[in-house]
Amino acid sequence: YDKDSNKIQYTTFAKFPPVRLLPNSERKRILVTGGAGFVGSHLVDRLMLLGHEVTVLDNFFTGSRTTVSHWVGHPNFEMVRHDVVEPFLIEVDQIYHLACPASPPHYQYNAVKTIKTSFMGTLNMLGLAKRTKARFLITSTSEVYGDPEEHPQREDYWGHVNCIGPRACYDEGKRVAETLTYGYQRQDGVDVRVARIFNTFGPRMNPYDGRVVSNFILQALKGEDMTVYGDGSQTRSFQYVHDLVDGLILLMNGPETRPVNIGNGHEFTILEFAEAVRDIVEEIQKEEGVANPKRVNIIHKELPTNDPQRRRPDTTRAKETLEWQPRWAVRQGVEEMVRYYQSQIAQGNI
Ligand code: NAD
Ligand code: UDP
Ligand code: UDP
Repeated sequence: YDKDSNKIQYTTFAKFPPVRLLPNSERKRILVTGGAGFVGSHLVDRLMLLGHEVTVLDNFFTGSRTTVSHWVGHPNFEMVRHDVVEPFLIEVDQIYHLACPASPPHYQYNAVKTIKTSFMGTLNMLGLAKRTKARFLITSTSEVYGDPEEHPQREDYWGHVNCIGPRACYDEGKRVAETLTYGYQRQDGVDVRVARIFNTFGPRMNPYDGRVVSNFILQALKGEDMTVYGDGSQTRSFQYVHDLVDGLILLMNGPETRPVNIGNGHEFTILEFAEAVRDIVEEIQKEEGVANPKRVNIIHKELPTNDPQRRRPDTTRAKETLEWQPRWAVRQGVEEMVRYYQSQIAQGNI
């Protein structure tokens, strides 16, 4: 921002979008672990546009180089292939620690590795934060509440988690990651932030990662049966990824050090959500001139073990301390994502 001309200044490098030109005192060196994943890549885009220096650290287990490849070569950007389970040395001002598979089929694929990533990966990144005095933000999850007995879920609810069930590697992994985070805060004075993220969707979600939003949209687009697990009476609340990125950046740069729920309060049963996705896809196909789009069937499959029955965030804390609330309606987000997957199908990527 140039005070004399009263304008924001940008710097442009060939082929890259213009990024803000920040004075040295405001430009931060930011590490994003898991930055090649779905949420990470959107966060990286925003931090780059804001004018920061961003280093992505990722082992490409569920992420892909292509999600951030549009920044490769930019002087403010660096991508490092590294597994957070191993120590890592770098000098930074802020750490967004996202590295961890997030979809049930992926995190259950190698449960021991998921636990190692959550525990050892978080330990290493906290050690790094302690040494560099960087501010540390971890992306925790609504899964710390397990199959909740309180509804909606507030941050002071302790949760209801089966510590030996198939989801435990992720749920307990994140719970111990939070415990470590507050341990480093108390013992070593590390400056920490904890985001408890509720179900999030949007473009660049791995189409095959098995989560419900990508499954339903792709099934509807391809004219395949939509698979509702169980009777579909379980509920979830879905937030669009741009709202989440807003929340993460506000949390990182604000004063709140307690855990903060970040999610959309609009709760659907999974069956209602399947019907809504089917309607939206049909409407888009009609707009595009398909006279009689095929009406896909909704079929039922077995409900996974320990699948939480209800989930909706109480976001009072985010509203009060971050002045944050979701701005994207679920419908708007689904429409955007349908168009994204359509373009991916047209390009032969899916
Ligand atoms: P994702 O699977 O798309 O991204 C995770 C990224 O971490 C990938 O790029 C993956 O390659 C990387 N990674 C995994 N293990 C690693 C390791 N050992 N070392 C280095 N990199 C590793 O998932 P996402 O949806 O983008 O989730 C990002 C974060 O947000 C995760 O911490 C997740 O737990 C949290 N979260 C996401 C949601 C959601 O709905 N998307 C909800 C709650 C919490
Ligand atoms: N660590 C790291 N990068 C750093 C500093 C530490 O990866 O810049 C790792 C370190 O290898 C250790 C973990 O973070 O495994 C915890 O570090 P801490 O200093 O808290 O513990 P200690 O090394 O004393 O066990
Ligand atoms: N689900 C479903 N069909 C699918 C994928 C998921 O009915 O094809 C259900 C799943 O059982 C759960 C909900 O949708 O009740 C959300 O599942 P997801 O894996 O997206 O996230 P999570 O269970 O971690 O909230």
